Formats: sequence, C-alpha cells, structure tokens
Amino acid sequence: MLPPLRTPPDSPASAPRDLVVLGSTGSIGVQTLEIAALFPERFRVRALTAGTNTALLAEQARATRPEVVAIADEARYADLAAALEGTGVRVLAGEAGVCEVASLDGVDVVVAAIVGAAGLRPTLAAVERGRTVALANKETLVVAGALVRDRTAACGATLLPVDSEHSAIFQCLVGEDPEAVERLILTASGGPFRTRPADTFDAIRPEEALAHPNWSMGAKITIDSATLMNKGLEVIEARWLFGLGPDRIEVLVHPQSIVHSMVAFRDGSTKAQLGVPDMKVPIQYALTYPDRWPAPHERLDWTTLRCLDFEAPDLSRFPCLGLAFEALRRGGTAPAALNAANEAAVALFLDGAVRFTDVPRLIEAAMDADAGAAGDDLDALTEADRAARAHVRARARAA
Ligand code: NAD
Ligand code: MG
Repeated sequence: MLPPLRTPPDSPASAPRDLVVLGSTGSIGVQTLEIAALFPERFRVRALTAGTNTALLAEQARATRPEVVAIADEARYADLAAALEGTGVRVLAGEAGVCEVASLDGVDVVVAAIVGAAGLRPTLAAVERGRTVALANKETLVVAGALVRDRTAACGATLLPVDSEHSAIFQCLVGEDPEAVERLILTASGGPFRTRPADTFDAIRPEEALAHPNWSMGAKITIDSATLMNKGLEVIEARWLFGLGPDRIEVLVHPQSIVHSMVAFRDGSTKAQLGVPDMKVPIQYALTYPDRWPAPHERLDWTTLRCLDFEAPDLSRFPCLGLAFEALRRGGTAPAALNAANEAAVALFLDGAVRFTDVPRLIEAAMDADAGAAGDDLDALTEADRAARAHVRARARAA
C-alpha cells in the first residue's frame, strides 16, 4: 500500500500542490498549515475541516482562503457560516460534509489528521477517490487495517505515513528491497511514568498524564503515550503500512525520542532515522515526498547530545501495549474493539470518572466481550466499535 520507493514526483516542481487538511484545528493540523505557510508558492490549501472548534477553523479559513470548509458538529454550522460570511468560502457540516471535503476533485494530498475512529470514514472517502493520503490518523488503520489496505490497492490510492515512527521506517526503507527486511523496531519515549513505581499508578491524575516529557500533542494521544497504548496502536499501524506480522515488529523504549525508529535487515545491518522530536519534519516529508524541501526546522546538536538510552518496555506496568499485540493476533474486529474501548476509557479518565489503572482493565474486558467478527466489513467494524464503547461505559458506571 506504500508507493514504490524512489519514484519521481507526479507534478513538476513549479505546480503548487493542492492540500486538503482534515482535522486542521488539532495539533497535527495546525503544524501542517504552518508548513504550508512556509512554502506559499508551492502549496495551495483547498479545504479544511474540524470537529467543533469553529473559531479556529474560521480564522484558518480567513488566512488560507480555501474553497470549502466543514465542521463535523452540525450544531455549529450556523456559527461557522456567520463567521465566514462574505469570504466566498463554502461551508458544510456533519460527517457527510467532512467526507465531501475529503473527496474534493483535483487534490494532490489529503492530510488525515482527525483524532480517533471518527477519522475512518473521511479517510476512506479520500482513499476511494484514489488520493495520496498523508496519514496521521493511526486509528483508521487500527480499526480497519485490512479494509483500508484493500481499498487503497483497489482504488490506486497511496498512504504516506505522518506518525514519526512510521515516517522513520519509511525513510529507512527508501532504496531497499522489502524482502530484505527482517524486523521493524518502533521506538517509544516511555511516557511520563517510565520510572514511576507501579504501586503509585492508581493515584495518577489526568494533569500528570497530560505532561509528556518530549512531545506536545493532542490530549488523547498524550494519554495514549502515558499508558503505552499509543505504541500498541502504532504496532498495528505498522502491520498494515509495511505488511509485516506482529512477530516481526518490536518495541524499544528510548527516553530521548531522538531515534524515531529503525529497520533491521537480513544481513545483520540496522538503519535508523534520527532528529529532534518535532512533528513538522515527518509531516513535511509526507507533503513533499519523494523530495526533501529546505526548511528551518530545529537541527540536532550532536555536541550536546550525550547519550541515547534504550530499554525493553515493561508490559506488567503498561499492559495496554500487550493488549494491542493481543488484538493484532486475534484479528478481525478485535483491534476495532481495542481502539473504541481505549477511546471511551481515555475520555472517562480525562473526566476523572475512572483511574489510570482502570484503562487497561476496561479495554481487556471490552475485547473479551467482542463478538470476533471478520475485520473486512465496515458494518461489522462499526458495530464492534459501538459495542466496545457501550461495554466500557456500562462497566465504569457499575464500578
Ligand atoms: P487533536 O486532538 O489535537 O486534533 C484532532 C483534530 O480532529 C481536530 O481538528 C478536531 O477538531 C478534529 N476532530 C475531533 N473529533 C472529530 C470528529 N468527531 N469529526 C471530525 N473531526 C474531529 O489531535 P492530534 O494530536 O492532532 O492527533 C491527530 C491524529 O494524529 C491522531 O490520530 C493522532 O494519533 C495522530 N498523531 C498525532 C501526533 C501529534 O504529535 N499530535 C503524532 C503522531 C500521530
Ligand atoms: Mg508516533
């Protein structure tokens, strides 16, 4: 499902690349627009979407003048339309509006930066139009990896990874024979609780879990990084992007977040991609692939970089990572159930309704209750998602 490596660009360097940004008001979306603003002659923003943040979406639309914007929350349509009156920007609402934007004609790259399973249908809409999709929304591949892979191949679409680990692996694979790959090694910072004793995990407050040591990101992925579920979701994402089974994907804790991931080859050689922890670099690579455009992003200072540490992940303190491997082994709807249960449990944790240690327990119970249907049917996946969320909420209420 990845493009052939070392292909020349589709469009001459002089033609601007037309972008659609799904989830433009989030952490990845905002950074995508910052990159677009670095190259005003080379990128044209054609459309933007957001979930609920009407004010920021309107501000972005005034700055970038897209043809169309969509707000997922239909109740906010009138506010957005009023804020953009007189600009000529067309305003849509609801999931259907977001999907319409994702399917816009004549677009070079659709940036999929919605958070959670809510990104699945809009991302699929872009895939079904045969687009190049710069994929940040890892949950799309967690929920529906087999389906998205098959639709990508059938519709001639291309997925380019934005997630820093997958971008690193993709960069390590340039020029290599896929058959020569032995293992993928995904690095993980270990999050804010890497060295915290397990017997204090019950007391972890949302503010502590939201304070990531290396990366500044949206709230949901920040909690996922604290539980290591983020790395679990990334293992599943890697499985579908690179076509290797769970026995050939390894996770390695690397607290400095300088080595973004590695590929081990069958001759005993290992390639790594390094850089400061800054999402702008992998976002830009996905937007400019296969080229590298000069940009002012922060450089590594090798003279002050004293050491790079690595250690095995501790699955007893961070059971979410093991649950993700288990979901991948079970296959079918299990990863969709894992993902939905995680989204519901994280929301409850952020609301103060459940403890940090309840998150993996709730996910495991929802996975065990999953009907285990085949994973290539969108209706079955949607039902597994709904049932897992309901299971988590009911169990949390009963506790
Ligand atoms: P975020 O919460 O900051 O932003 C999410 C975006 O999605 C916002 O624009 C929001 O309005 C939109 N959105 C939310 N719910 C929606 C819905 N129901 N319908 C339509 N739009 C909706 O999230 P983020 O941190 O930017 O992460 C976005 C995606 O990128 C996630 O899948 C995350 O795992 C992935 N990712 C993020 C980072 C990072 O550094 N932030 C790094 C790697 C991968
Ligand atoms: Mg990542």
